Amino acid sequence: MTVVKNICCIGAGYVGGPTCAVLAYKCPDIKVTIVDLSEARIAAWNSSHLPIYEPGLDEVVFECRGKNLFFSTDVDAAIQEADLIFVSVNTPTKKTGMGAGMAADLAYVESATRRIAQVAQSSKIVVEKSTVPCRTAQSMRTILDANSTPEIHFDILSNPEFLAEGTAIKDLLNPDRVLIGALQTESGIEAQNALVDVYTHWVPKDRVITTNLWSSELSKLAANAMLAQRISSINALSAICEATGADVDEVAFACGKDTRLGSKFLKASVGFGGSCFQKDILNLVYLSRQLNLPEVADYWQQVVTMNEYQKSRFVRHIISTLFNTITNKKIAVLGFAFKKDTGDTRESAAITLIKDFMQENARVAVYDPKVEAEQIYMDLAEPDVEKKVTICASAYEAAEGADAVVIVTEWDEFRDDQLDYTKIYAGMNKPAFLFDGRLLVDAAKLRKIGFKVSVIGKNELA
Ligand code: NAD
Repeated sequence: MTVVKNICCIGAGYVGGPTCAVLAYKCPDIKVTIVDLSEARIAAWNSSHLPIYEPGLDEVVFECRGKNLFFSTDVDAAIQEADLIFVSVNTPTKKTGMGAGMAADLAYVESATRRIAQVAQSSKIVVEKSTVPCRTAQSMRTILDANSTPEIHFDILSNPEFLAEGTAIKDLLNPDRVLIGALQTESGIEAQNALVDVYTHWVPKDRVITTNLWSSELSKLAANAMLAQRISSINALSAICEATGADVDEVAFACGKDTRLGSKFLKASVGFGGSCFQKDILNLVYLSRQLNLPEVADYWQQVVTMNEYQKSRFVRHIISTLFNTITNKKIAVLGFAFKKDTGDTRESAAITLIKDFMQENARVAVYDPKVEAEQIYMDLAEPDVEKKVTICASAYEAAEGADAVVIVTEWDEFRDDQLDYTKIYAGMNKPAFLFDGRLLVDAAKLRKIGFKVSVIGKNELA
């Protein structure tokens, strides 16, 4: 039976870093080396200021780093030493569609696989950790097989990651499930068992699911598509709530009490963001079109369309409430990360909203507790952005002289029991508008202060 003693992870990003840090933390008998092409990223992982923010991550990394956890740019050496290699590189959506929708760009997966094939000097278990279209393992296999010899054999596993940013360490320490897919051959199953053994260092055996390779690859896309679909469903209902006087929180609560539905992921908002949901659905859409299943493709595409609609609906509502023009008005945007407890801004709704505000000639002030100014300007990528958008050190500074405050990220510090909204109100232009895109504040309480409040999914007149 194969026993894994040395692991390499290619890609030190939001997934590779935390995942393999926890693995090292829970498996002190295994040496774990996380490698990346980016020298800056590796230097940050080796410093006291880690490149990503996740609650609990510092503790895990600082406990193991230098003992059995290493960060390096020497990709080849780490590949050569390892028995098992996670491929945890980025799989962004391609910029061009080529007629069938937007495919995942697998260039990084291919290049990491080629590297493994070229430098391996002994047999390896290669594990897809990145989220990939169904049957990507087939392409990886072709590349690896072309380089295998009687002495060097490669097995491929699929082990998609289900962590959510913001709760990554908690999710990794206590996962709902770990999914490991393998080819159903003798050697595939032996490799699968070896990875099961690694995870059962800390994950109860009944939470480790083993499947065939293709089920595992598709399950990751399916899980993200269904999570995003729930958000788009409640967001679609939020529009009906605003028009009718139904309250989206009450509707979500009433629906969620049905045990067949469950209450999680039924929070209306300005729309989902993050690097995964949209990308993975577009992936599914593309796959469906390639498989000549256009109705299936259209079905999933609608989840993304609804998400775009929710963002533009929110912006239109803000503009019409502010007397149909925001030219030269100051809008304070609270939150830039795509959700709370992360500094990640990829596909954040804030980017779309702020670009729309700039288009309408508003002056924008942004405050986010974890996102640096440099990142915000990079994401907005507009000419003269620094003249149009000010980055502030607090919510109070952002709201000073503002006509409207817009809550975009649900950071706890923006709650009405944490932020002093009386002070915010005092500094604003009157009438002072507040738009809550996250159902975070008690509208009645803020109306008493004097704010004119609009909350997604709630009708002010109800
Ligand atoms: P990321 O962009 O943060 O990290 C990827 C890293 O891989 C980068 O640092 C990049 O420099 C490195 N890299 C790319 N090619 C390389 C190569 N050939 N050799 C060495 N390093 C290389 O991406 P991420 O958010 O960690 O996502 C990785 C994968 O995990 C994606 O497929 C994503 O869909 C999936 N995923 C992400 C999340 C999430 O919450 N971010 C959750 C589950 C799954």
